[in-house]
Amino acid sequence: MLDPVVLSARLSGIRERLADAARRARRDPASVRLVAVSKTFPIDAVRACAALGQCDFGENKVQEGLAKSEATADLSLRWHFIGHLQSNKAKKAVAFDTIHSIDSEALLIKIDEAAHAAGRTVDVLLQVDLAGEATKFGATPDQLARLVDTANRCTAAQLVGLMTLPPAVDDPEAARPYFATLREIAERLTPRARHAAMLRELSMGMSHDFGVAIEEGATLVRVGSAIFGEREYHA
Ligand SMILES: *Cc1c(COP(=O)(O)O)cnc(C)c1O
Repeated sequence: MLDPVVLSARLSGIRERLADAARRARRDPASVRLVAVSKTFPIDAVRACAALGQCDFGENKVQEGLAKSEATADLSLRWHFIGHLQSNKAKKAVAFDTIHSIDSEALLIKIDEAAHAAGRTVDVLLQVDLAGEATKFGATPDQLARLVDTANRCTAAQLVGLMTLPPAVDDPEAARPYFATLREIAERLTPRARHAAMLRELSMGMSHDFGVAIEEGATLVRVGSAIFGEREYHA
């Protein structure tokens, strides 16, 4: 059971560090949104966090995320899907508000069609694999131009930006070049998008490196263990 006093202290600590990082980069702290990654944690933890003013939550399993979203429907929270998405889950995944992990044209089209069929719109980000690791998901940088072209034709799936997950490293500074590269890629792709706003969001930075990510332009940071504590299992 998560101690509410501990949770409150952690959350305010993170909000302070987030604001400090934004100020270091001469950015408005309000331009960075904290996504609380509640994967593996129970609905009570989400409710406790929401009671402290947290509105955005992230999950990496469709079923688990939707169950939490339904169980907290009274709170009007925003749900972000941040895990690898199989195309056979597209229909269900469009119940999320934002999907951070679009990594192929086929998946993007599936999401657009599923959202259209459900009569809703869903914000999407293109996940970019900057490390070229065979085990990692994400589109390679050279696939992005075509993905943006496809996003230009979508109506229900609305592109809002890029996401990356750098290789796991202990030193947050080692992740900085990946964050800087994602920002440069977004800038380079912007003229190709139907609207500049389609590349406005940069989803990057986790518990150990969100400060560096914000210095490099992150607008969405995905923070789990620093809020909720260590996970029992790694998903
Ligand atoms: C689990 C997860 C996070 C949060 O990781 P922490 O280290 O617990 O902050 C962020 N992004 C993705 C894609 C994740 O799967």
